[in-house]
Amino acid sequence: MEATAKRIVQRNLPLDVKYSLRGIVHGSVIDGDGTICDNCNAIISNVATIADESGKQFHVGLDCMKSLTLKPSLASEEMLESYNSFTAFLGKCNKPDAEMRLGGGIVYVQFRAANGRMQYGSGYEHQITEFVGGGMEAFIKRYYDKLTQPR
Ligand SMILES: [Zn+2]
Repeated sequence: MEATAKRIVQRNLPLDVKYSLRGIVHGSVIDGDGTICDNCNAIISNVATIADESGKQFHVGLDCMKSLTLKPSLASEEMLESYNSFTAFLGKCNKPDAEMRLGGGIVYVQFRAANGRMQYGSGYEHQITEFVGGGMEAFIKRYYDKLTQPR
């Protein structure tokens, strides 16, 4: 088997700089046209903010973020793990028949899976605040019709 090491191509941002991950905004719930990646110029909807060692910030897509922060800090890893669990939760919220309920800092979601069984999930308000542009307000607006106890 051939090794499948991904070749990292240098684009706008130099690769010999140590970047740290400062934040991620998940774009599917943001209105608007998206942003241009500072690294590869692609239009991106999920935007990671990274900073170089002088603190200068750049907005890049998640793929570029991963190639620019090849040795992520523990804090970056924790943020990515939280982001991944948030996007899994959001996938459940996006099911057509999903119903959601807010309570105690948690958003509970349920939907019927293809096999007919009910599936459940939950996400934390702090994750929504962290990863959704506009925070809880935007989230509630986006999913208002699916919330059984909207605030
Ligand atoms: Zn990019």
